[in-house]
Amino acid sequence: MEKVKIVIAGPRGRMGKEAVYLTGRTDHFELVGVLDHKHEGKRLSELEDFNNPAYDVPMYTDIEKCLQEVKPDVLIDLTTPEFGMFHAKTALQYGVRPVVGTTGFTNENLKELEALCEEMDRGCIIAPNFALGAVLMMKFSKLAAKYFDDVEILELHHDRKLDAPSGTAVKTAELIAEVRKPKKQGHPEEKETIEGARGADFDGMRIHSIRLPGLIAHQQVMFGAEGETLTLKHDSYNRTSFMSGVRFAVDEVLKANVLIYGLENIME
Ligand code: NAP
Repeated sequence: MEKVKIVIAGPRGRMGKEAVYLTGRTDHFELVGVLDHKHEGKRLSELEDFNNPAYDVPMYTDIEKCLQEVKPDVLIDLTTPEFGMFHAKTALQYGVRPVVGTTGFTNENLKELEALCEEMDRGCIIAPNFALGAVLMMKFSKLAAKYFDDVEILELHHDRKLDAPSGTAVKTAELIAEVRKPKKQGHPEEKETIEGARGADFDGMRIHSIRLPGLIAHQQVMFGAEGETLTLKHDSYNRTSFMSGVRFAVDEVLKANVLIYGLENIME
């Protein structure tokens, strides 16, 4: 089996580092380079965390130079929304398929990437959550929303997260909105005595974002009806929880020629 050549953007980050290790333990993956805005010309294996021959690959600050020299099949991006978009666009322009875990992409970003995938006839996967359990939680939430109109989403993350609400919470709300009868929840005359007390409003349902050190990534979707509640809950306890989804996405993106936003669209 031919190996999948992979470039990782953001290899020193918390997610990026796990993705590097994933390539090291996956037989059919081969790391061929990394994009790191602080290290040009070094080898990744020179860095303390990557002291292993499997990671003896060049580090680049310039994405075009990187793609031209190491010619990957897939670019995995785990950086920031601004750079993630730039990396995904540039990769597609070079015929390289992006797998993006970076969150915070706007609808305009998604539309632009969708058009670029079509133009270049290449797939791109954007997965706000790579944890397969979290994807199932989203799918189950959509099923439950057919029967429960009242729902509140509570997402909990570590305090270094830049975007709120989380990509997973927004995606969950979007999936619920596809089947839920539109409804403004709570008392019609409810007033916030402190701004933000009721959380963000998405189509009348509320999303609450909690940020605390010690947390990784957690979400509860609470449905309420007469005399009962239903809570769907998912917890990622460490960042390796995301890696089975990264491996799945890399394998799937090779077969794709359109933009896929969310692993739920390709998980049966
Ligand atoms: P992090 O630890 O801050 O890592 C981000 C890394 O990107 C840092 O090492 C940063 O380097 C690097 N970086 C920034 N700009 C860059 C550029 N232009 N080129 C190359 N590298 C660059 O963050 P994280 O926790 O790993 O999260 C990264 C992204 O993944 C975030 O958007 C987060 O929300 C998302 N995430 C997704 C999932 C999922 O399942 N999809 C799960 C967890 C997190 P410096 O620190 O040196 O600036």
